Amino acid sequence: MSTAVIPSSPSIWAAVEAADGRRPRSLQTQLGASDTVCERRAAYILHGHPKTDTVFSRSAALGTMAHEGLTKAAKAEFGWLIERKVADPAIRGSIDIVQLDEATAKRLPARLRPKVTADVVTVEDIKTKTVWKWDDVLRYGPTEAELRQVHLYADLLRTEGFEDRTGQRVLARLGPVGVQQIRLRYVCRDNGDEHVYEIPFDPQRAEEARWWLTRVAETKSPEDGRRDFMGPNLDAVCDFCPFATACWGIPAPGRPAQTTLIHDDKDVEQALIDYVEAHKPFAEAKRVKDFARKKLDGSKAGRYGPNVLKWGGENPLEEPDLAKMIELFDDAGLKVPQTEDLARMVKILKAAGLPVPMRDTGRSSARTIRIVPYRE
Ligand code: SF4
Repeated sequence: MSTAVIPSSPSIWAAVEAADGRRPRSLQTQLGASDTVCERRAAYILHGHPKTDTVFSRSAALGTMAHEGLTKAAKAEFGWLIERKVADPAIRGSIDIVQLDEATAKRLPARLRPKVTADVVTVEDIKTKTVWKWDDVLRYGPTEAELRQVHLYADLLRTEGFEDRTGQRVLARLGPVGVQQIRLRYVCRDNGDEHVYEIPFDPQRAEEARWWLTRVAETKSPEDGRRDFMGPNLDAVCDFCPFATACWGIPAPGRPAQTTLIHDDKDVEQALIDYVEAHKPFAEAKRVKDFARKKLDGSKAGRYGPNVLKWGGENPLEEPDLAKMIELFDDAGLKVPQTEDLARMVKILKAAGLPVPMRDTGRSSARTIRIVPYRE
């Protein structure tokens, strides 16, 4: 039997990626509430289509680890119910947190009662976000898909209760649980900022989520499902979709995946109409934005009503130092590419785990504006 040789100091990501591949989530074929992000993707899962792409995101993996730590701490300190399973014939899910009210808590054995109860039974979903997405979280709140997912969890709990399975039989005995509140807790995975969004459970939204599922269930094949995103390199969800190749096909070398949607002149005609129609509002909005940017050029950073103005950029610009890189290649016994190719040399040094020597260009980066929503 051959055994894989692991170098003495492997990248820790090799372990994380292997462990991630064994997570039950990664192997599931039944539709889960967290799969309700894209109709086409949900249809691939429902029809048992084999995955066509192996995807692993370090950033998402960090999010998963942070998520586990947060829910475990909430269980230990507040006694909240975490990672509890709910299911009906159409869908299943694992709820991050259920915070019970006093009355429901009293129906449970003392060991399962929360130390911190809620005024009303609350279903909570935790979302970790990068700092790049944080302003969107504060400004626009949850996405449709996030609200759909958490309403499905709450609806399953309201109609079926906790699933009757090992590890939560006592909870299942509660029967349907009267969830009245939805909570989305956002945590920034770069700096730990926290933002809580709470709304009453909305039966109308839960029904819409059920219709969404019915539409997927009515598809005859995955291709009947609507693509809810615009594909690789435009929407990150497609970059990490295990069905991306099945969904978009394989484009001609060097062409983007979206080119596979053009089959004939009619498709070109429609794409041109879309382009022209989108251009007008885009150009007008850009003029408004450029005008506002010019007006703001002399304004001081600070809070102005609902927004905070920040200035950035104007940093010294550095670039890889070719002479020092060649020296470093020599010292490390690395082969210098035949033609000096900065990008390739940088890549080789990084792969060898060596620092890339940089030199000051004497230039500065452009001044950048950043407008973030104000928070008390
Ligand atoms: S690649 Fe994008 S559009 Fe296609 S199924 Fe996946 S998420 Fe949906």
